[in-house]
Amino acid sequence: MQIAVLLGAPGSGKGTQAKRLTEAGFKHYSTGDMLRSAIKTGTPLGTKASTFMDKGELVPDSIMIDLIADTFSSLSPDSKILLDGFPRTVPQAEALDAKPMTQVGVALNFELPESLLVERLTGRRTCQECGATYHVKFIPPKTPGVCDRCGSKALIQRSDDTEAVVLKRLEVFKKQNSGLLEYYTKKGVLITVRADQEPQALQAEILKKLATWSK
Ligand code: AMP
Repeated sequence: MQIAVLLGAPGSGKGTQAKRLTEAGFKHYSTGDMLRSAIKTGTPLGTKASTFMDKGELVPDSIMIDLIADTFSSLSPDSKILLDGFPRTVPQAEALDAKPMTQVGVALNFELPESLLVERLTGRRTCQECGATYHVKFIPPKTPGVCDRCGSKALIQRSDDTEAVVLKRLEVFKKQNSGLLEYYTKKGVLITVRADQEPQALQAEILKKLATWSK
């Protein structure tokens, strides 16, 4: 497998970019999306995970490592994968590299000034029907409260995008991130991109950087 992991604070635009990059043949796996879907369908994983997510804390490594192992077990060996939201800790990074099939080839680090993150996250809205994402100020839908893509009126704020939980999530991110950057720098696969540019320009930069690696 060719695996690129996306590193960066919540709100740095990893998810948005990953969705765009599926057009270039990458499969996008977001552990946050997987957990939210487990919560929605009421599985035991969802019940366990929600107690951590509601507080902005990380779900324990053992649960997350099993979830990724399960997901990857059904994929073909020639898959090109973008992992968004995993790894969040060094033990999670080590678990990927422990198996020859899931060695990480590139770690893309999304760098963004911290001052922009809180506004980006608290203004974020998602369509509950089709998953399209908006921002009340930066990417508003054409008609307020209505999804441009599917017309649904179910544009909601994620329960962990409220200001109190956002601040906790950023604190957790800062605590874990330096270890991950160090881990992937030592491995020689870290590439940093400036995430405070137009989505289109950022996408072009990422594609250029990924092209040399994923032939
Ligand atoms: P995200 O959508 O990536 O911002 O993730 C939302 C929440 O899901 C996080 O705040 C964590 O509680 C949980 N989560 C997602 N991915 C992981 C992970 N790799 N390790 C631990 N917790 C995670």
